[in-house]
Amino acid sequence: MKYYVTTPIYYVNARPHLGHAYTTIINDVLTRFHKLMGYDSYFLTGTDEHGDKIVRAAQSEGSDPQKYVDEISALFKAAWPKLDIQTNDFIRTTEERHKKVVSAFMDAVNKRGDIYFGDYGGHYCFGCERFYTEKELVDGLCPDHLTKPEYISEKNYFFRMSNYQDWLIDYIKANPTFIRPERYRNEVLGFLRDPLEDLCITRPKSRLTWGIDVPFDKNFVTYVWFDALINYISALGWPDGELFQKYWPVAQHTIAKDILKPHAIFWPTMLKAADVPIFQHLNVHGYWQIGYSKMSKSIGNVVEALSMAERYGNDPFRYFLIREMNFGLDSEFSEDRLVERYNSDLANDLGNLWQRALAMVQKFNDGVIPTQSLNSKNEPDDGRWQKIFDAFVSDYVGCFEDVDPRMAFVAIWEFISLLNKTIDSEAPWVLAKNESQKDRLKVVLARLIKGLALLGALIWPVMPNTGSEMWRRLGLDPSDMTTDIDKITSLLAHGNKISAGQAFFPRLETEKTKAKEIKEAAKDLAKKEAGKEAAKEVAKELAKTEAAFGSAEGSGISRLESETVTIEEFKRLDLRVAKVLAAEALPKSRKLIKLTLSLGDSQRTIVAGIGQHYKPEELIDRNVVIVANLTPAKLMGVTSNGMVLCATDRAEGGELLTLLTTSQDFAPGSKVS
Ligand SMILES: [Zn+2]
Repeated sequence: MKYYVTTPIYYVNARPHLGHAYTTIINDVLTRFHKLMGYDSYFLTGTDEHGDKIVRAAQSEGSDPQKYVDEISALFKAAWPKLDIQTNDFIRTTEERHKKVVSAFMDAVNKRGDIYFGDYGGHYCFGCERFYTEKELVDGLCPDHLTKPEYISEKNYFFRMSNYQDWLIDYIKANPTFIRPERYRNEVLGFLRDPLEDLCITRPKSRLTWGIDVPFDKNFVTYVWFDALINYISALGWPDGELFQKYWPVAQHTIAKDILKPHAIFWPTMLKAADVPIFQHLNVHGYWQIGYSKMSKSIGNVVEALSMAERYGNDPFRYFLIREMNFGLDSEFSEDRLVERYNSDLANDLGNLWQRALAMVQKFNDGVIPTQSLNSKNEPDDGRWQKIFDAFVSDYVGCFEDVDPRMAFVAIWEFISLLNKTIDSEAPWVLAKNESQKDRLKVVLARLIKGLALLGALIWPVMPNTGSEMWRRLGLDPSDMTTDIDKITSLLAHGNKISAGQAFFPRLETEKTKAKEIKEAAKDLAKKEAGKEAAKEVAKELAKTEAAFGSAEGSGISRLESETVTIEEFKRLDLRVAKVLAAEALPKSRKLIKLTLSLGDSQRTIVAGIGQHYKPEELIDRNVVIVANLTPAKLMGVTSNGMVLCATDRAEGGELLTLLTTSQDFAPGSKVS
């Protein structure tokens, strides 16, 4: 049995963040699950490195494209092992092995007659250096520059994607799980109700040279999407590489919903045209929304969210992501929620079960794991345990096969709850007091330990460190890990000795939980001691606590030293130089001006309350300083992405205000620190 899964190759115009991490972690989880089930598994990731956006990003950092992509790609490559992600290969589209395959692929499609030379016309914004479709324009204007783009036309090569529209519709209909979850399958079928246009797959070298040469015309480079998608087969050595023969027939891609169209429409039609078999599944997940409202102090942005892995450990971080996201839908990421999950699921449920069970084996059987089978012949009712264990495993496997690891973990937690209840109902401490119940006691302990060994295996795809450590502490070798209860029984047939260790997932005592506990205790005390003196004491305690920890309803992990900011806290602010490209007063507002700003490689809109001090036209081309990672806010219907910094001084007769700027004309996007 074989398994091959890919992440999208990440575009190197941004550094690794939570979104990238989730896609890569879920693929690691799926790969580990298949390894656990005995599959020969292969997991590919990598980086996408061509196109004009990369050239501009490199320029804005004063770098050349090759140096720039080397640097960012290395950040991605280094990020994954840190999260306990094990990949088999990391492909870069600037590598020779990839370029070779792209050329061969284009030749194959060309020979088939599916590439033609034609006019590519469109609305081109010179400020953005890109074409806009009619739909993207706002009232006929570039949404970023608010200027009218020029209609230009140039010669380019096109892929006859339209030839494959009917085939693709039939294919999706004939293969119900080709695109999953179903909502995305429906979305794609929705797109396909409109006629599919041919895809422009080149860019003239007069405009862009940072790309892969078109094999049949040296004046053009390949359009970045047409180049990038091919990584899924170039890494396997298409057409006759051994890996390609082995893994391509079982290929699955996992992506976030923003790149559905290229993966669900461009890619299958490209494969069909090049006569390459179609991949098996496209697995599509939603977005993480950072819980800004409460978490702005702790998490400024998606990059910051990644640091939660360092703060709480990889296993809890991975568990939170898998347990919290309903695959396919959007979910909210918040540190508060992560801490809640940690304390309730990991510390209370899982951690306590482990501690209780092992303490009993230690106390009642000298730390030796009893070898009694799950189905004790002397205990007729125990026949059902084999069935119960098997049912949980098959539920778990089914969830994973449907790419629903969240539900697999819901099932695991039911199993944990069952084992915890067994301890309560069997009461081993009572059995231990009665000589005639000694066998029964061993059966109960043996069952519990087998349950824990199984549990270690079930959680391993998501929490590899904990799963492996659980096996080691039961005297088992993690490389034997299995969910087959008969195999577990035979591995435990030698009277293994348990080894003690530090508790898994010790409860997190955050300032918030501490403050809450003290407040609760104070309230209890107040109730008990109705006297005035006691109440006064309580009030004092309460005031002290609240002063020290901030209000308990505050923002989670707040710091004690709240009056000063640490250098780390300050560093969370992303301050940048930005150039004003366009400015307009918002109708119906005396104060608000909508600014379109250039950050070098990107643009953004910020609404600033400076209308009583500046006229829109005097702002154009000015350098300003902005907070670039401020939570977006809607002002008079316009989403403002950041804040422009101003100095104010309350002088007599009114408020003076001046925009902060740089004393030299600095490149937009430059960092302020
Ligand atoms: Zn523009």
